[in-house]
Amino acid sequence: MPQWLKRRIGEGETFMQTHQTLHELGLETICTNANCPNKGDCWSRGTATVLILGNICTRNCRFCSVGHGRPLPPDATEPLRVAAMANKMGLKYLVITSVDRDDLKDGGAAHFRDVIQQCRNEIPSLEFELLVPDFRDCQEEAIAILGEALPFIFGHNIETVPALYSKARPGGDYRRSLDLLEKAKKAWPRTQTKSSLMLGLGETDEHLMHVLKDLRAIGCDRLSLGQYLKPSKESLEVEEFVTPEKFEWWRQQALALGFSWVQSSPFTRSSYHAEEK
Ligand code: SF4
Repeated sequence: MPQWLKRRIGEGETFMQTHQTLHELGLETICTNANCPNKGDCWSRGTATVLILGNICTRNCRFCSVGHGRPLPPDATEPLRVAAMANKMGLKYLVITSVDRDDLKDGGAAHFRDVIQQCRNEIPSLEFELLVPDFRDCQEEAIAILGEALPFIFGHNIETVPALYSKARPGGDYRRSLDLLEKAKKAWPRTQTKSSLMLGLGETDEHLMHVLKDLRAIGCDRLSLGQYLKPSKESLEVEEFVTPEKFEWWRQQALALGFSWVQSSPFTRSSYHAEEK
């Protein structure tokens, strides 16, 4: 592991409070389920990304450590518990994500909406960012449902270059992911859309540049680029450790392409410092 990827694990009072709040309320986070290397930092700052709709995914992406199989039905108490968490942690900005729920007719969109609305009932000033699945067979329906809960930043991750989809994201489809971001932008032109990619899975610069241009062509506003780190024994190997300097180079390239908000560094994740303007 290169020196620039060494990080302290979590400690301190705020970290423990975050842990305790999530535990008491029975909430899942992507921080824990994906073995995110930023957990110590984020939880110590009193922020976390809640993982709704359970922690069993209907897909099996090779870069991800979230469990897969047959998920349970959505839990009607979850919106209340997420709202209680936001209240207790005094959040101003909440990132919500979920596993893929191909088993649900709306892909879980109504549950996202219910969580936002419940949180907003309790904390009207709370701002939201969604990181949603690709809503494989129900993109229009999901966008119509989510529209009831605007405003929010709308995120969907491309994750990697199309040439690596069969290896890294076999249940995904590059065009389908672009379509979702494009449809969201068309439905809500004033809503900022966002996407993220992991670097170090074997992509070439040329492939990555192509993806950034595709994202700009469909009006994607925000971009985050971070180092892929193998989250579990079964996950794909890291092909390359991209240097901080190269991440900075990509940041400049992305800004030059017209992205209005770019985070690009080894530890960048779609939800890392997402609240920064
Ligand atoms: S970067 Fe996101 S997923 Fe990782 S610890 Fe921070 S909030 Fe959680």
